[in-house]
Amino acid sequence: MKNEYDVIVVGAGPAGSIAARYAAEGGASVIMLEKDRDVGYPVRCGEAISKVGVSEFITPDERWISAHISKFALISPDGTEAVIEFGDAGYVLERRIFDYELAKTAANAGAEIVTRAYVNGLLFENGKVSGVKYEYRGEQKELKAKIVIGADGVESRIGRWAGLKTYVDFREMECCVQVTASNINVKGDTLYFYFGENVAPGGYFWIFPKVNGAANIGLGVSGMVGKKRSALSFLNNFMENNFPNAPVLTAIAGGVPSSITLEKISAPGIMLVGDAARQVNPLSGGGIASGMIGGSIAGRIAAEAIERNSLDHILKYDKAWHERLGKRHELFEKIKNGIYNFSDDKFNKIAHSFNKIPYEKRTLGKLFTTALFNQPSLLVDVAKVFII
Ligand SMILES: Cc1cc2nc3c(=O)[nH]c(=O)nc-3n(C[C@H](O)[C@H](O)[C@H](O)COP(=O)(O)OP(=O)(O)OC[C@H]3O[C@@H](n4cnc5c(N)ncnc54)[C@H](O)[C@@H]3O)c2cc1C
Repeated sequence: MKNEYDVIVVGAGPAGSIAARYAAEGGASVIMLEKDRDVGYPVRCGEAISKVGVSEFITPDERWISAHISKFALISPDGTEAVIEFGDAGYVLERRIFDYELAKTAANAGAEIVTRAYVNGLLFENGKVSGVKYEYRGEQKELKAKIVIGADGVESRIGRWAGLKTYVDFREMECCVQVTASNINVKGDTLYFYFGENVAPGGYFWIFPKVNGAANIGLGVSGMVGKKRSALSFLNNFMENNFPNAPVLTAIAGGVPSSITLEKISAPGIMLVGDAARQVNPLSGGGIASGMIGGSIAGRIAAEAIERNSLDHILKYDKAWHERLGKRHELFEKIKNGIYNFSDDKFNKIAHSFNKIPYEKRTLGKLFTTALFNQPSLLVDVAKVFII
């Protein structure tokens, strides 16, 4: 390990690994510090991702694909199932292996990786972030860098230490719980989404199939709902009613920042990526693909800043992210606030109308327009979504 690097990346999740890789590929000297013993573990994720989201960064590999997804099933509160076929559109991953392989792509590009390195503070010089303090094998150490990239996930503290406003209102923070259970009798090519007051008010409940009859089963509810009734009690209820004898292999809980991106995600010497920057898609709660996109932009810009010897260049990251995805997330956030406030009755009516369309003609766009044409009152909600 050297005494100083061009770029230190904190956290070896998907966003951190891709940031490290792009910075290293751009010619910067890079080290990535991860607090856990193993990259990729523990997994706190439903592991669903689109094929497009993966393929931009790594060639799909059966070793980390648990299920190939070609259908969505949307289940309304009265149990009506609306199925949409997409072709070979996505995957349920084995993130334990996927994250590890992403980190390897960073290592192959020249980035050093140190696990069990717990970053517990930042170094500053002339008001600018100039490195990190970290604990490694019981020893407190310091490491200098021209740029620190905070990829330390939803519980990130790097941004706050750097003086960025990282607060997310609890209404925007989805409380998520999930079990991975076996003997789950669902179709292996379908992602199941359940809506309604009894399963996941203000959010959705999911079953994502995995290999050999296992599945990730969980839900996310807004912090508003979570205050009154815990996400866990919804999950326990669902499991008792639907899979009372399914052996549970793992149980996890975590927050998903279903908000728009932070107002500022870079400052002198510091950039934030992934959950740390709140780059999650606010509508779906998915953050793997968008985190990798954020990481790639930050890594590329960091390398350019080093190459040009112009550290102010990193401040271009905010705009570049906003143009690539941030703007779209602002629209998704409005749509989310419209959809997740639908009543059970509304969800049921939409599903009934949609199921009248011949199976082969069902698309997401059709679902949207059917909802509008068959239930004109929805127009008001949708209009609100786009106007407000
Ligand atoms: C229950 C649940 C289900 C989800 N399901 C999906 C899904 O199906 N699809 C999807 O796309 N997204 C899903 N998400 C969201 C997704 O998991 C995250 O958006 C994604 O992991 C973000 O990647 P990241 O690299 O920003 O952060 P992370 O993957 O959280 O990685 C952060 C890394 O930083 C390390 N770290 C943290 N602090 C420090 C420190 N101080 N020093 C050193 N290292 C540190 C952590 O150990 C970790 O390895 C889900 C989230 C939850 C909670």
